[in-house]
Amino acid sequence: MKKRSLGNSNLQVSEIGIGSNNFGRKCDIKQTQEILDAALELDINTIDTADIYGGGGVSEEYVGAATKNNRDKWVIMTKFGAPTIPGTDPHSSMEPSATKEYIDFAVEASLKRLQTNYIDVYQVHFPHEEVPSEETMSALNELIVSGKVRYIGCSNYKVWHMVESQNVAISKGSAQFISSQPPYSLIDRRIEKEHLPACERYGIGIIPYSPLASGLLTGKYQKGKPAPKGSRFEESTTSGYATRFLNDRNFEILNKLEKFAQEKDIKLSHLAIKWLLMQKQVSTVIAGVTSIEQLQDNIKAVNIELSEEDLVTINELTK
Ligand code: NAP
Repeated sequence: MKKRSLGNSNLQVSEIGIGSNNFGRKCDIKQTQEILDAALELDINTIDTADIYGGGGVSEEYVGAATKNNRDKWVIMTKFGAPTIPGTDPHSSMEPSATKEYIDFAVEASLKRLQTNYIDVYQVHFPHEEVPSEETMSALNELIVSGKVRYIGCSNYKVWHMVESQNVAISKGSAQFISSQPPYSLIDRRIEKEHLPACERYGIGIIPYSPLASGLLTGKYQKGKPAPKGSRFEESTTSGYATRFLNDRNFEILNKLEKFAQEKDIKLSHLAIKWLLMQKQVSTVIAGVTSIEQLQDNIKAVNIELSEEDLVTINELTK
């Protein structure tokens, strides 16, 4: 498995990483351990989790348990500051924010759950624009100085906010973001207009989230048909979250992509992953997996070939 630098940093992340938001939900601790053991055998070193995944930090707990014996082999990225419903998170006594006070609280909680004394990439999960960027960047820099965190990143930031944060860090000579985690896939290319060029200018690596559009880009969901048994949207294809992915516009693009993939004799999911790996600034593709089989399947994407002509066609089909 090839490694890439995350943004302008020296941190080496595997082209295929692991998204961990199924851990603590669909995957119990045993399945998580099996998936992460298999990942190491496949030379995958990169895990993305967050303090809210699995509910109340359970994903971090499972990742911690599964990686503690091989900690130095892993690049563990986690996040703080996603909104939770106050009072529902048994692990959090504070309202999520990006203040120094909250960051100092959140990092200790994540380190404990992850059973480690350092986090490779600590990401602001959602922006808190009411908190001055000076305060957030300085608090994150202190974590790097103390050795609790190696690198920092942001997620779901607007361009102005990411650029402001970067400029604050540059002016103070403190740590800059090395990564940004926005939604990015063949059916969601919004970041290409503004976000991606800003990442290029500031040396920020992109970690696309929901790279398979929650499973839509595997072809498992078909318009008007019930979701397959055991799939993410088995319970409802019409919930607010499901319809972010399963909607008329996306099914229209999906149909075109499916035809193209069939003509090329490649799997749609492989096309989706490889296409992302061919985009500027993308460092690692962290598809969420619920089984070892899915992981073994996803890594095959790195070996498929897409020509310049294919990229032009895909651009036409998805723009
Ligand atoms: P995703 O990676 O686009 O889709 C994940 C789903 O795709 C899995 O649950 C699985 O569905 C299915 N899948 C994966 N590989 C498959 C294969 N080979 N064959 C068939 N199905 C396959 O979406 P995501 O999990 O939402 O996003 C990935 C990661 O991004 C997350 O785990 C998380 O780390 C991160 N993320 C970050 C944010 C943020 O705000 N920063 C938001 C969302 C996600 P089934 O469940 O049906 O098996």
